[in-house]
Amino acid sequence: MRIVLVGPPGAGKGTQAAFLAKNLSIPHISTGDLFRANISQGTELGKQAKAFMDAGDLVPDEVTIGMAKDRMEQPDAAGGFLLDGFPRNVSQAEALDVMLQAEGMKLDAVLDLEVEEDEVVKRIAGRRICRNDSSHVFHVTYAPPKAEGVCDTCGGELYQRGDDSEATVRNRLEVYHTQTEPIIDYYKAQGLLVTIPALGEVSDVTKRAMDALKK
Ligand code: ADP
Repeated sequence: MRIVLVGPPGAGKGTQAAFLAKNLSIPHISTGDLFRANISQGTELGKQAKAFMDAGDLVPDEVTIGMAKDRMEQPDAAGGFLLDGFPRNVSQAEALDVMLQAEGMKLDAVLDLEVEEDEVVKRIAGRRICRNDSSHVFHVTYAPPKAEGVCDTCGGELYQRGDDSEATVRNRLEVYHTQTEPIIDYYKAQGLLVTIPALGEVSDVTKRAMDALKK
C-alpha cells in the first residue's frame, strides 16, 4: 500500500503513522523526521533546512523532493510506504505523481486527519517528544509521562521542538492553510481522499483510520 497522510501540524500524523505503518507492515516516512535527523547529524541538507524549519516555513522543494525521493527508493519502501509530511504543497504532489508513474506505481489512498484549529494549538503547545523516537509523543496535561522529562516507552529524554513555540505554530498553521490544504482538493479530484475525525483516544483514531483504509 502507498498512502499519504495529511492534516494540520498537531493533528497526530506522527503518532498515527507509527501505528498504521506497523499494522500495514510498511515503512513510515516522515520528511520532518528526516530533516531533524539531518540537522542533528550536521549534514549540508540539515544546514539548508534549519532556518526554514525554525521559522515554520516550508523547506524549498529543490531540497525536499530529492530527499523524499531518495528515501522512497530505499529497498524497504519497494512494497509500499506511509508518507507523513510529504507532499506539503501542490508542486510536491505533482512531483510525487511523476515519480510514481515512472515506476508504474500509484497511490492507494490519502488519509486526511481532521482537527479543529483550537485543539491543534493546545496540542502543540504542550507537546513533548522523545529524542530517541519521534513517535513517542507526550503532552504536559493530556498525556503526561510518569516522570517529568522522561519517555515512558524507552527512557529517552523528552524535549519541546523549537518550532512548537507559539509564534512559529501560528506560521505553520498559516502555511498549512495556504500551501498544504490545496493538495486536499488535488487528491479529492483523483478520488483518493479519505477524511476521518482525528479527535479522541489515539487507539480510536487508529481504528477509524484502519476501517477507512480497508474500504
Ligand atoms: P508538523 O506536521 O507537526 O508540522 P513535521 O515534523 O512534519 O511537523 O515538519 C516540521 C517542519 O519540517 C515543517 O514546518 C517544514 O519546515 C519542514 N518540512 C517537513 N516536511 C516538509 C515538506 N514536505 N516540504 C517542505 N518542508 C517540510
